[in-house]
Amino acid sequence: MKTCSKCQLSKPLDDFSSHRREKDGKNTICKSCDGIRKRAWQKANPQKCCDSRKRYYQRHPDRVKAYNQSQKGRARDKRYYRRNYQKCYAMVMLRKARLLKAPIVEKIDRISIYERDQGICHICKHRVSKMKFTLDHLIPLSKQGNHTAINLATAHRSCNSRRKDGRLPAQLRLLP
Ligand SMILES: [Zn+2]
Ligand SMILES: [Zn+2]
Repeated sequence: MKTCSKCQLSKPLDDFSSHRREKDGKNTICKSCDGIRKRAWQKANPQKCCDSRKRYYQRHPDRVKAYNQSQKGRARDKRYYRRNYQKCYAMVMLRKARLLKAPIVEKIDRISIYERDQGICHICKHRVSKMKFTLDHLIPLSKQGNHTAINLATAHRSCNSRRKDGRLPAQLRLLP
């Protein structure tokens, strides 16, 4: 047992991470206190955090790749995806638009488009939930439509796939 210098609780040695410079080879604060401290530091120093992550990757690319493919790594990605769903989704759309060589590609804020459309599916005119809506290109990417807010409209996933590549006509928004 060892007493954590932060929370003052006595915990088994397994609850302390290894630390080379300490006499007993264990950190002075417990794993959960260390986690809180690390997360606070990461939040306060996003740039440093990003740089050190990059350096770590350059030194141990295999370790990072192995971790990413492990169960823990995949669970972490899943958590990230769930927490940053809108951002991740927007990134996927952006990549697809670039891949399909849309003439104009801009960064999309999905929620602002949803709010502009007042949460109404542009195909069936019914409400769609904020958790489930998709964005539909009015002029499809396959027909050189732009990946811009003006060419995107809120839609149900089912309506969106029914419309597939603009086979069903869509009412185009007038340019402002
Ligand atoms: Zn502690
Ligand atoms: Zn719909």
